[in-house]
Amino acid sequence: MRIVAAKKILKANDQLAEENRRKFNAAGAFCVNIVGSPGCGKTTLLEALFAQLGGTVAPAVIEGDIAGSIDAERIDALGIPVVQINTDGACHLDATMVQAAAEGFDLPTLDLLMIENVGNLVCTAGFDLGEHLRIALLSVPEGDDKLAKYPAIFRGSDALAITKVDLLPHFDFDVARVRSDMKALASKAKVFEVSAKAGTGIEEVAAWLGERMQAR
Ligand code: MG
Ligand code: ZN
Repeated sequence: MRIVAAKKILKANDQLAEENRRKFNAAGAFCVNIVGSPGCGKTTLLEALFAQLGGTVAPAVIEGDIAGSIDAERIDALGIPVVQINTDGACHLDATMVQAAAEGFDLPTLDLLMIENVGNLVCTAGFDLGEHLRIALLSVPEGDDKLAKYPAIFRGSDALAITKVDLLPHFDFDVARVRSDMKALASKAKVFEVSAKAGTGIEEVAAWLGERMQAR
């Protein structure tokens, strides 16, 4: 019998993630890992960001889903290169999957590679994909206690987008609590209040993303 410790698997993932990051760096492609629950608005945020960025960047998307290609079809409809990963039951993306998916692109022609992770607040936190930034999403209907309950995913993120803020009048969601929880978990992370439906906050996220791409 052989027992492989989860720690070893994670170490192998970290090495592959570094390899991915080196590849992205060499190609000049800035890579962002988008994480959050199913239905928090990851794909919708991508659509809104691409509309905001217009022709200023050359983007591509890796979509991670357990099954199907619903989100990839939405990105494809925008004329943006997209590769769908079907994890076949796995509840997160790992660096191996991203490496394989990235082979579907001509990386040097890209400025911005967005990875939409599988909808999951738990184990997506443990897998570096080789990204430069991780953006976590929390939608208003999910509740304001999620940072306290799922700290790891937020702790390792560079920004938090509170999404669907147009719904705030209908929920007991304390934005101040979420902001203060995020400050405690990731003091340097930016917090955005976003509604793709109302068109609020998108400009700010796009501007910050542009700054971070420039700074690298
Ligand atoms: Mg999606
Ligand atoms: Zn998982």
